Amino acid sequence: MCGIVGYTGVQSAAPILLDGLKKLEYRGYDSAGVAVMDQNVIAVHKVRGRIAALCEKIQDGAAVPGFTGIGHTRWATHGAPTEENAHPHLSNDGRFAVVHNGIIENYLPLREELIREGYHFQSETDTEVIVHLMERYYKGNVRQALIKTANRLQGSYALGVICSEEPGRIYAVREASPLILGMGVEENFFASDVTALVNRSRNVIYLEDGEFAELSKESIRIFDCTGRQIDKKATRILWDVQAAEKGGYEHFMLKEIMEQPGAVKATLAPRLKNGGVEFEELAGLVPQLASLRKIVITACGSAYYAGCAGRYALERLCGIPVEVELASELRYSDPLIDEHTLLILISQSGETADTIAALRECKAKGAKTLAVVNVVGSSVATLADYTVYTWAGPEIAVATTKGYTTQVAVLYLLALFFARCLNRAGDGWERMIEAVQSLPRRIQQAIDMNASIPALAKKYHKNPDIFFIGRNTDYAVALEGALKMKEISYLHAEAYAAGELKHGTIALIEEHQPVIALCCNPAIMEKTLSNVVEVKSRGAEVLALTYRDNQKILSVADDLLFIPRVDPLFSAAVEILPLQLLAYYVAKENGCDIDKPKNLAKSVTVE
Ligand code: GLU
Repeated sequence: MCGIVGYTGVQSAAPILLDGLKKLEYRGYDSAGVAVMDQNVIAVHKVRGRIAALCEKIQDGAAVPGFTGIGHTRWATHGAPTEENAHPHLSNDGRFAVVHNGIIENYLPLREELIREGYHFQSETDTEVIVHLMERYYKGNVRQALIKTANRLQGSYALGVICSEEPGRIYAVREASPLILGMGVEENFFASDVTALVNRSRNVIYLEDGEFAELSKESIRIFDCTGRQIDKKATRILWDVQAAEKGGYEHFMLKEIMEQPGAVKATLAPRLKNGGVEFEELAGLVPQLASLRKIVITACGSAYYAGCAGRYALERLCGIPVEVELASELRYSDPLIDEHTLLILISQSGETADTIAALRECKAKGAKTLAVVNVVGSSVATLADYTVYTWAGPEIAVATTKGYTTQVAVLYLLALFFARCLNRAGDGWERMIEAVQSLPRRIQQAIDMNASIPALAKKYHKNPDIFFIGRNTDYAVALEGALKMKEISYLHAEAYAAGELKHGTIALIEEHQPVIALCCNPAIMEKTLSNVVEVKSRGAEVLALTYRDNQKILSVADDLLFIPRVDPLFSAAVEILPLQLLAYYVAKENGCDIDKPKNLAKSVTVE
């Protein structure tokens, strides 16, 4: 999620590190720091806030001597965005500095172990265990210490390490977080993303999981986890700098759509353990679950639609009534909420003004409050009694994609977790766990199955109105699909519960009117199918979203979008993918400013 950089060469390191960090700022921006080695001394400079503040503090690097260093721009996961928690972290003996991208899942037992051994911690981060492990395992060989350290770590990490005993060397290791090595003349680099490298080096090596790299100004050597040297080929980067920031994608939105398998995996993996669901952060809530009489989910925009989608799993599995309310409505409705209510607040930024107000209002009435938030240390996260983070990483495009799917994924996990705690999980536990666990794979399949979407966008982009229909979970996804279309393509898109059509909307169906029909729930498929036939009879062009082998729909619809088979209770996180892609390509056909749609802002901090 964050950005890391490393440099060793014949130029002053600090300005080069700062330059790289600026390119990576989109990956995280709550605090930043560099560690630069001058002879045998490591100097660390850190700030809370943006890279600009770090540049100011160290005079754009001019104030920091040395030719070797590492840098970091943070997107906090463990510990608030403060100067103490900013990276690089230093070992107690001052010998090692470490930057880290990712999450160390077993940091708590490691921290306790290291504290027992007398190591002194200066931050709340999961990362700090790494630098103390390096100190502990160092017996004169940095590479060996790094291999031993990595062996103790569970989770995801890309690490950059320097050691004062080896001026001129930088070390890197990767496990499930990106890391790329850049080759120069009398200088070498590493970074989380080619963005930070392309204006200095176009020959790069992509490090793979479990690989270690040792860089000096003359050489790059790569090792496996046994210390055996391996050969790897360099790749020539042809992208221009602007394209590189988007990972080669034309827009951040498309990049973020494609990141969803990884983002949902990052959200699910730390909680799906031992054949069950674990939420250490909810330990205090568990004894109170039995006294709940209702759950109220509140949010705005797509987060509200994530609530609409997650509601079905929560209600079905927990046997507790669930209401989903718009935060802007809830805050002024004097709701019937008391200490037997659990209020779930969903917000990507954690700064949504209406959601904060609803939280305050309901907390004052005694509700227990649980935030589902992406940004660590944000207002909603701080104000709520309990917080569960979606690990989507920074989202740059205004229209949310991975923010939404990770929110839905958290609601599925909460449904399973509460049901288990309440002894209401019933039959099919393993099947349900499997269904949730397989979501990242299914999301990838949903991306891969829909190569025809750009062509469909060419067919449908000129229509001024598009209707979306579906029932139950399909309806919830239709709401979000229509919102995506409105936000970025500026077409008028409306989602209707399919059964409501004949209560009014069907009057709007004319020859060639596009209707997108979501048919992914076998239990109610026949009912939606009848509505499809009704609109077809009035001349509509039907674009159906369904399974590939769903013969009934295949024979009625004009065009098709596909998803793989998924338990309908958990399908929203997969079903939305083709609709996001359709909105994206329609907006592209219409020449819209996709990442920054008109009149919209990413984080709505005003009422
Ligand atoms: N887990 C680390 C922290 O919270 C690294 C976060 C990141 O990837 O920026 O400091």
